[in-house]
Amino acid sequence: MNPFVFADCTTESGALAQLSQNAKDGIVVKAGGVDLLDRMKEGLESPTKLVNIRNISSLRGIRETPEGLHIGPLTTLAEISEHPLIQSQYTIFSDACGNAATPHIRNMATLGGNLLQENRCWYFRSKDYQCLRKGKEICFAFGGLNQYHSIMDYGSCPAVAPSSAAVGLLGLNATVELTSAKRGKRVVGIKELYVLPEANPTKFNVVEPDELLTAVMIPKPAAGTRSAYQKYGEKQSFDWAIADAGVVLEMDGNTCRRAVVTMGAASPVVRRSPQAEAALAGKPITEETARAAGKASMEGAQPLSMNAYKVQMFPVAIYRTVLLAAGQMGRDPRAAG
Ligand SMILES: Cc1cc2nc3c(=O)[nH]c(=O)nc-3n(C[C@H](O)[C@H](O)[C@H](O)COP(=O)(O)OP(=O)(O)OC[C@H]3O[C@@H](n4cnc5c(N)ncnc54)[C@H](O)[C@@H]3O)c2cc1C
Repeated sequence: MNPFVFADCTTESGALAQLSQNAKDGIVVKAGGVDLLDRMKEGLESPTKLVNIRNISSLRGIRETPEGLHIGPLTTLAEISEHPLIQSQYTIFSDACGNAATPHIRNMATLGGNLLQENRCWYFRSKDYQCLRKGKEICFAFGGLNQYHSIMDYGSCPAVAPSSAAVGLLGLNATVELTSAKRGKRVVGIKELYVLPEANPTKFNVVEPDELLTAVMIPKPAAGTRSAYQKYGEKQSFDWAIADAGVVLEMDGNTCRRAVVTMGAASPVVRRSPQAEAALAGKPITEETARAAGKASMEGAQPLSMNAYKVQMFPVAIYRTVLLAAGQMGRDPRAAG
């Protein structure tokens, strides 16, 4: 690892001033450090300065507002998953955070860092492979080992979206606040936070080098909303999803007024499935409609040479998560978390 300056900040303005000094000269934000230090140890990144934001107390905490929830980016995944209001009214989000990684990691990992972590494609994560995402010509996954990669929307790079929290937040129509010392604040939707490889293969998200993610806002769910998230992996714990699903149902009795179905490990950015949502809207939630939603979610799927199994997994994940959200099935004991 290269030598670097460690700037320990205790205020938001102090951190923003550090970031605005020389935005292009390898100055990076460190929150929990789980992803960033991993990348540095793997030799993927050699920053000249780490701006440690972990001790900025104003960026931590969960606050109820008249509009919904305001969450500081340093709030840990553990704190979110254990919060009673999030568990009861924003269940998709508490379950997404509570089933990510392991208890140790959830105690360290912050919400902001989880949303902005980089992808886990093993070619991208190895310094021996100079891939498209590193500004070179080739994606090694298409002709290589691609069993954990995307089955939809992948264009030139099929690395999957890594953040479980984003699968929950997309379902709840959340936004993030980005702050720069020079340009002030802007608000961006979860979908708009991420960049598809087609648009720019070397940029995962729209956050500029001098910006801090300073808040996550979740609107209050409509009356009658129920939600759930489930993740399936190769191992029961300690691993990212190979298929995960979030479901939000706005119910009138047993009829679904409106549905949102989100998927994580299907594509390079977290996505909604309009086809699955249409299969549920205006209908009662039954095994039949839940199964139809799962099946519809795979419209347009184009699996790679080694991941056709995902085309079978996502419909099952969505079917079970729809029924879990509707209170018609318990949490699947085979789901990972
Ligand atoms: C074994 C293992 C299993 C895992 N399983 C899962 C899983 O199932 N689901 C899942 O979602 N994740 C999983 N993870 C990933 C883990 O959750 C993330 O690495 C972690 O959430 C990152 O948070 P952090 O606070 O440590 O971020 P950091 O490592 O500090 O930061 C990550 C990135 O975000 C940037 N950043 C952080 N905060 C801000 C901010 N406020 N403003 C601007 N930029 C910022 C940093 O510069 C850096 O580029 C797993 C990790 C491990 C090691």
